[in-house]
Amino acid sequence: MEASMNNPQQERLAALYEVSSRLGTTLDLPELLNLVMDAIIQLTGAERGYLVLQNGVTGELETGAARNMDQQTIEGRSMEISRSVVQRAIDSDQPILTDNAQADNRFSAYQSVIGFRLRSIMCTPLRARGRVIGAVYVDNRLLSAAFKPEDLALLEAFANQAAMAIENARLFQQTDLALARRVEELTVLQRIDQELNYSLDLNEVLSLALDWAIRLTHADGGSIGLMQTDEELGEAYLQLLVSWGEAGAQERQRIPAGHPILAQVLASGAGVHTTQVTPEQAIDATAAVAQLAVPIKREGEIIGLICLESYRRTVHFTAEDMAFVSRLADRSAVAIENSRLYEAVQAANEAKNAFISIVTHELRIPMTSIRGYTDLLLGQMMGPLNEAQTGFLQTVRRNLDRMNVLIRDLSDINRIETGRMKFDLAYFPLEAVVQHVVSDLQEAIEARQQQLVVDIPAGMLPVYGDRTRVGQVLTNLISNANKYTPERGQLTVRVRAHGPEAVAVAVQDNGIGISEEDQACLFTQFFRSEADAVRQQVGWGLGLSIVKKLVEAQGGEIWCESVPGQGSTFVFTLPVVAPAGEVNPQL
Ligand code: ADP
Repeated sequence: MEASMNNPQQERLAALYEVSSRLGTTLDLPELLNLVMDAIIQLTGAERGYLVLQNGVTGELETGAARNMDQQTIEGRSMEISRSVVQRAIDSDQPILTDNAQADNRFSAYQSVIGFRLRSIMCTPLRARGRVIGAVYVDNRLLSAAFKPEDLALLEAFANQAAMAIENARLFQQTDLALARRVEELTVLQRIDQELNYSLDLNEVLSLALDWAIRLTHADGGSIGLMQTDEELGEAYLQLLVSWGEAGAQERQRIPAGHPILAQVLASGAGVHTTQVTPEQAIDATAAVAQLAVPIKREGEIIGLICLESYRRTVHFTAEDMAFVSRLADRSAVAIENSRLYEAVQAANEAKNAFISIVTHELRIPMTSIRGYTDLLLGQMMGPLNEAQTGFLQTVRRNLDRMNVLIRDLSDINRIETGRMKFDLAYFPLEAVVQHVVSDLQEAIEARQQQLVVDIPAGMLPVYGDRTRVGQVLTNLISNANKYTPERGQLTVRVRAHGPEAVAVAVQDNGIGISEEDQACLFTQFFRSEADAVRQQVGWGLGLSIVKKLVEAQGGEIWCESVPGQGSTFVFTLPVVAPAGEVNPQL
């Protein structure tokens, strides 16, 4: 050591204090190790030196930092001797000082000592929390007795402090890494959640879950399936629904509950990691290096299985892979349930639509003949009728009309829901359609002595839609205004521009109005207000729900403004510009 000799002890302590105080300046491990090595060279005045740390997992010694020795030298044969010194210090948990390694009978047995001209050597274990975590080595190849016992004492004192700082930095690095990994996993899981919840298609949900599981565990392939019960045999089995990977598992493969690995998962409710997988153990019947079978659970019940395989890797799945796939399985379970429920609802809806389609069709045929014969009788073609007979037949006719409206509405809904309602889109002037509908409803309006005003400014642009369907919308709204407005009421149909690309059609009345609560349900099927004035009128509560679908299918919107007791205004919009790609035949 090159300290002045005035008060060597004091000088040493001052130097130790000075270098030790630097240790607290960083928690970055590589930076700290460099700092420690610089301090050691400064303290000991050694020619060269290095520091090794024991790997927490493998127990192997790894070079942390070195001074005046390149990495190759440390790894190479020339270090055989220093390695054995280091190993000795670590194993014995004792510092080592030698003035001349070539003459030291602890080391002279090594043939290489002479070859590598090692003379002065100092080495001390790094101890933290009562455990050896590595060692510091310094040497001087040319000088004998370059280090004195005081130097070793100084090195030891410093090494103890350095070891604590290194251990802290390592712990910090570990927690930091663990935290980073957790944050990364949470971000991935959040993305998975989004993707899973976006889809209501069962197969897509299963594919997504499997895809993410394979991707994030670096598996070579895998399968995902759901538990089902064989109704006839009353036996549970796993139905594989999606499989990926080179083993090419058969899609829609059926795995009996007694399969050794599946049985283990079912019994324990936990994932099973198998290595050197035989075809009997493999869920997909293909031998593999490793297999990870993780249950998908919903409210404690196993509803399915995610199975991953590794064919080439010698590295098996880790505990982290298992934990990740379990978390992924939990999340998939929710999406799987949702898509199953959705599929059940879809199936019920399809059955309902099929039923309505048959019923409406079958009812139409007899009703046409009832109407024909009733009209024949009412027209007195079959002989004169007395007053009572005419009255009865008129009642039959009115009820037929009622039934007809119901059947027409039901089959409209059916056609809209099954996508069979065709829209013949074109430009047409609204005015003609409004006039047509008004004249059709004239009789009903006059019967209640109501006044109807049509207000359409001149020069309105033609609208783009299906003329017949727009007529149907208008008929519904005006006939509601007529039904729900007392005698001598006022009805108005007003057409105005609605921004540059649409027109708004308002059907206004000064009738019974609609409460705020009822307004919230207006466009849902079978909704009818409880009000007496409504119940006295014939209706099924289907008109507005159809109207809304018709308007939206033509690119418009519909809404209602109403004050109970004062009246209601229903407004719907229609585009005046064809959507991109369509040509306007009239412009
Ligand atoms: P329906 O007229 O056959 O009952 P709709 O679907 O056309 O069926 O209308 C649903 C309900 O909305 C009506 O039963 C009524 O309660 C309310 N409603 C619709 N139009 C009006 C209106 N102009 N004024 C007051 N209430 C209305």
